[in-house]
Amino acid sequence: MAKIPSWLKFPFWLGSCLAEMILPTVCIGCGRFLDQREYEFCPECLENARKRMLSRPIHIKYTDLSFAPFTYSGVVRTALLQFKFNGKPHYDKALAKYIAYMLVKLGIEKPDVITYVPTSNMRARKRGYDQAELIARRVSEIANIPLVRALDKIRNTPKQSKLSASERHGNVLGAYDLTDKAFDLYGKRILLIDDVITTGATMSEAAKTLREVKPSAIIGAAVAKTGKFHKKRLKLKQQ
Ligand SMILES: [Zn+2]
Repeated sequence: MAKIPSWLKFPFWLGSCLAEMILPTVCIGCGRFLDQREYEFCPECLENARKRMLSRPIHIKYTDLSFAPFTYSGVVRTALLQFKFNGKPHYDKALAKYIAYMLVKLGIEKPDVITYVPTSNMRARKRGYDQAELIARRVSEIANIPLVRALDKIRNTPKQSKLSASERHGNVLGAYDLTDKAFDLYGKRILLIDDVITTGATMSEAAKTLREVKPSAIIGAAVAKTGKFHKKRLKLKQQ
């Protein structure tokens, strides 16, 4: 039997590219039509998004450095919810642009390879796409860095959003495994992408798994990080 071309295995990625060509450009914050394509947000939402921009890297265990361009609130939260749960996979490029932008803004040495924190296959099937993969694929295109699927989710974990911070760490333990392709990442600088960072438990566990192939560095990145994580860090600093 003829082998299925690999691009056919990513119908939503293809759908996202087609949507970009066919659909009128809308603001990812409020859905209003945009006159021009250079911005992802309309002027009002852009103003709202700018207030949520983060300029400093964050510390997540097993990563050398992590960052998120935004806090998870306001129009950024709305855009991510639309992207994840409301059938708007074509928002991927707009969201990915900010990760690529931050990579440059923080002066991070260009990674050799991009990978992502995979969602469980069951959840991806239900939704129709893996949100972190879509974003990673777009960052790969924008920054011209190859994308490798280095991790598999081997265990279906309860939704992180329904658990407390301490439960989240236990929930993701041993949830990931290396794919065969991961072993090519020895000595490489890896950019590990997820959609949102909350406590950092998921990113940390994925990075811990990647450490087994001895990369030279792991940089964690997501579109946004929740405020809870920020508050917790501040509290820890005050002690
Ligand atoms: Zn808007």
